[in-house]
Amino acid sequence: MLLRMSSLFLRTLRDDPADAEVPSHKLLVRAGYVRRVAPGIYSWLPLGKIVLENVARVVREEMNRMGGQEVLFPALLPREYYEATGRWTEYGDNIFRLKDRKGGDYLLGPTHEELFTDMVKSEYSSYKDFPVTLYQIQTKYRDEARPRAGILRGREFVMKDSYSFDLDDDGLKRSYEQHREAYIKIFDRLGLRYKIVFATSGAMGGSASEEFLAPTPTGEDTFVNCHTCGYAANAEAVTTPAPAARAIEGLPAQQVLDTPGTPTIETLVDFLNTNNGLGITAADTLKNVVFKVTYPGSDKAELLVVGVPGDREVDAKRLEAALAPGEAAIFEEFHKQPGLVKGYIGPQVLKDLGIRYLVDPRVVTGTAWVTGANEAGKHAVNVVAGRDFHPDGTIEAAEVRAGDTCPRCGSELSLDRGIEIGHIFQLGRKYADAASLDALGPDGKPVRITMGSYGVGVSRSVAVIAEQWHDELGLVWPREVAPADVHIVGTGKDNQIEVALQLATELEARGLRVLVDDRPSVSPGVKFKDAELLGLPTILVIGRGLAQGVAELRDRVTGEKQEIPIAEAVERIAALV
Ligand code: ATP
Ligand code: MG
Repeated sequence: MLLRMSSLFLRTLRDDPADAEVPSHKLLVRAGYVRRVAPGIYSWLPLGKIVLENVARVVREEMNRMGGQEVLFPALLPREYYEATGRWTEYGDNIFRLKDRKGGDYLLGPTHEELFTDMVKSEYSSYKDFPVTLYQIQTKYRDEARPRAGILRGREFVMKDSYSFDLDDDGLKRSYEQHREAYIKIFDRLGLRYKIVFATSGAMGGSASEEFLAPTPTGEDTFVNCHTCGYAANAEAVTTPAPAARAIEGLPAQQVLDTPGTPTIETLVDFLNTNNGLGITAADTLKNVVFKVTYPGSDKAELLVVGVPGDREVDAKRLEAALAPGEAAIFEEFHKQPGLVKGYIGPQVLKDLGIRYLVDPRVVTGTAWVTGANEAGKHAVNVVAGRDFHPDGTIEAAEVRAGDTCPRCGSELSLDRGIEIGHIFQLGRKYADAASLDALGPDGKPVRITMGSYGVGVSRSVAVIAEQWHDELGLVWPREVAPADVHIVGTGKDNQIEVALQLATELEARGLRVLVDDRPSVSPGVKFKDAELLGLPTILVIGRGLAQGVAELRDRVTGEKQEIPIAEAVERIAALV
């Protein structure tokens, strides 16, 4: 491959685009790799398309190596498939829906479990056919609430999705492990730094699940990390170690106090410390938040009170994951629920009201709390779990903080931000059940198939690589994904450009991918700036040294520069690749 800057369809920009906040977005636009069409919808220019294809190639090679077989499904899909699994409704506003000329409902596929399941069902029927893993690299559509950061969170994006089909749980575990290993190879080859973290399987209803998160300060996912034992989990999946239950005997009796004008934790703590000399902190209070929980596609709705230590908020994402597929909304219609007094809710009455009450795992039997007394302007102290109230269970919904206790080893957890680049999970039989996907076993009896589902953000990876690999001058591509191996810059009034082109041709003949700056009337300064911005790993400058037979070899990663004889340039560069 030989690309000539004199004819390459490329315009670099001097300034950052006005709508860009994160480095990858700024640089990919400035370097002419992508262009915005609409929010979350981008076009790929020639250099960007090459990088995207390089990422896809690495993914494809590793998927094939692990025994996956590539297929391709349409993006435009009829409603029926998603109706059968309930996801036509479950997806809500997140999918693009459209109608054909006859009024039939269609959607643009956000993910393809249904289609894969159906295809396997129609082609395979015997236990001898299994296991099988199929994958595709395809464009997905999701009407994301907040498309962001260029191609990082698009509404149209390229994903590799694969699905494993096994006869039993052990088979599924094997398929899952194979994917895990393949993903490690993929992300290593892409030059990405990442962390494998425990995840919840959420609405998909599976068991084991892990995410590959690329740590970056601009990431939208929060995850915890234990530097002592290596435990890592996304915020939704972190478990809170419960302290041991304590003896109830001998604890002072519950006492109701007048606390006028204290509907918030802050005002309450302040009041009790000033007026009652208690010396408490927010962590000694029990905050009770009321939610209305609904279930997609069902009329069922219930009230749920969640109790968390008062120094913590209920984290909406953790709550959502804990209740999935149920959806929780803050309850505001207090006039419709006598017994619940806004700002003064305590758990003592919830059993009598028939309202479900779930608490943070720290609220164990024998712990005493300051909480609402279910009367305006009154709170109760010494309210003991297991004596004065009896929760219906625990829920992981309180916010997670740096310094929280590691559930595995007890050390302090740190909190980091990352971007999800891959996700593997054991789906189990949800889709196989919906489609009655069975294989006929050796004894003639049907065996229900168990599935795994695995995704890689192909277009997102391009942005994440850029996010992790850049400096103040521009992009710095790892060789495996770089749009070319070497960027040859010819600059000067003698025959520098001719020599540059000649070297480019020789390198191309050796199988290298070469970009040569052969623009006749562009200043050396502009050419150097472009070379740094475009970010190819090796830069060779044919300039003033030509008369002495020397060129300058630059390493874009280290910034190191050295003079080398032009006669050796081809050998030297070929050896680098
Ligand atoms: P996120 O939490 O970032 O929205 P997700 O949990 O919805 O991701 P999956 O449905 O598991 O993601 O999709 C598989 C992979 O596809 C993700 O790991 C991610 O790399 C990529 N991906 C998901 N949504 C987008 C998007 N809007 N734009 C680009 N890539 C995406
Ligand atoms: Mg998503």
